Amino acid sequence: MNDDIAKVLIDEEVILRRLDTVADKVLADFEGNEILVVGILTGALVFMADLCRRLPVPLQIETLSVASYHGGTESSGVVEFLDAKLPEVKGRKILLIDDILDTGRTLKAVKDKLMTMGATSVKTGVLLSKEKERAEEVEADYVAFEIGDEFVVGYGLDYQGRYRNLPFVGVLKEEVYSR
Ligand code: 5GP
Ligand code: MG
Ligand code: MG
Repeated sequence: MNDDIAKVLIDEEVILRRLDTVADKVLADFEGNEILVVGILTGALVFMADLCRRLPVPLQIETLSVASYHGGTESSGVVEFLDAKLPEVKGRKILLIDDILDTGRTLKAVKDKLMTMGATSVKTGVLLSKEKERAEEVEADYVAFEIGDEFVVGYGLDYQGRYRNLPFVGVLKEEVYSR
């Protein structure tokens, strides 16, 4: 698996150290209020797990699934909610987590949905934010790392379902895409 990696962008140690800082910001903002963490599957899984363990406050975890990528490396433009039943969010203060902010469509669509469903507030956190123009006007409240506009994998992010278990964020070799 590591043979498929062209370069490591952010190594494990750097990620985990940065999460301490992000967690401090979250804790300060939520001021001791109970947090409902909502993770967007599957990419948010690893980031969410590591961040939650740095939030020593009453907290609940929910997840939801959306589709927008359909296995490739380009966004399709439509965000589809896949769950038969979405989490109960009425009156809750939410920390919405995704792996990466790219076009912004996913975060915008999910945030809007949660607000429509009666959430009191929705703060957003992403592991990565691509420096580029967004298709939607949305920025995350918490960004662990800004990266350039390239396709990355690892630490929850996949290519065709694989590489999520890499403990770092990296870029795949060109040859992987032509297999
Ligand atoms: P957006 O809706 O902001 O365009 O994209 C967000 C979703 O697209 C992320 O949750 C992630 O699943 C996927 N995505 C965007 N950029 C990348 C990337 O560089 N690598 C991977 N693996 N997924 C990405
Ligand atoms: Mg995703
Ligand atoms: Mg994906």
